[in-house]
Amino acid sequence: MNDTLKKYLTIDHSTRIQSLRLSDAWKTGLAHQNLPASVVRLLGELSAACVLLAGNLKFDGSVILQVQGTGPVSLMMVECTSALGLRATAHLRGELATSSDDTLQTLMNADGKGRFTVMLDPEARARGANLYQGIVPLEGDTVAHALEYYMKHSEQLDTRLWLAADEHSCGGLLLQRMPSAQNSSAQASTHSEAEDDTWNHCITLADTISRDELLELDPEALTHRLFWQDDLVSFPGQAVSWHCSCTRERVARMLHTLGQQEIDSILAEQGHVHIDCHFCGKPYDFDAVDCAGLFADGVHQVHAPGSDRLQ
Ligand SMILES: [Zn+2]
Repeated sequence: MNDTLKKYLTIDHSTRIQSLRLSDAWKTGLAHQNLPASVVRLLGELSAACVLLAGNLKFDGSVILQVQGTGPVSLMMVECTSALGLRATAHLRGELATSSDDTLQTLMNADGKGRFTVMLDPEARARGANLYQGIVPLEGDTVAHALEYYMKHSEQLDTRLWLAADEHSCGGLLLQRMPSAQNSSAQASTHSEAEDDTWNHCITLADTISRDELLELDPEALTHRLFWQDDLVSFPGQAVSWHCSCTRERVARMLHTLGQQEIDSILAEQGHVHIDCHFCGKPYDFDAVDCAGLFADGVHQVHAPGSDRLQ
């Protein structure tokens, strides 16, 4: 049950419950990224949140969560596709002296000008569909609070999140109120008393979850631990995987665009060409023979515009 997202609905269909635990996918993602523990924790929480949101996408595409920071961490960016392929990265301003007291605010919002951006990027965008982008100030001490603030103010959706991460795993639990059936448009936030009771009941139970339980329990066990007395509508688990779009082929195309002269001069200086993926940190090495291949007739002649987005 590693790397699985599980979705449930309360029996009255008024509240969505989702639980998630990542371990292998998360460790794969961190393998080439040398980040301090406090940043791994924040990035893992943002990753868990991103997968929880991507699990509800109504189109083929991806959710991108981006925090632009004004503190020691300049950027955290996480992308998760509707097929639950996840990638995540963080960029620091120089060396970071870590402390267990580091919070989202101290690391990323030193002067209150940090920004939290949520993007919904449909695959059909190339055919004219729009990128949706919402930006809010970085409110709250935790990733969960920042996202709850966003969901309330930009999406008018009551959402609660419990998130935890370390270098081995990330776990998350999401509660979200479904728009009430009787109030389809004008008063989507109006709910019956019974629905209010369900929502408050779920929050009371979810609030008892510990950080260790989020990190260690698989999604089914986590949900059972909290809601064992409740009837829930359960949906099949969905596998989550680490997926960065970088490939050796893409790096080769990028090197080709630099031109033979530039590549030859790097080879002369360093003996090989070394590139780390800007997103996941995966290393790519090209020796002299590989580089000669870049400029052989008919190889990598076409560089598709935009194909290296987010790299
Ligand atoms: Zn990559």
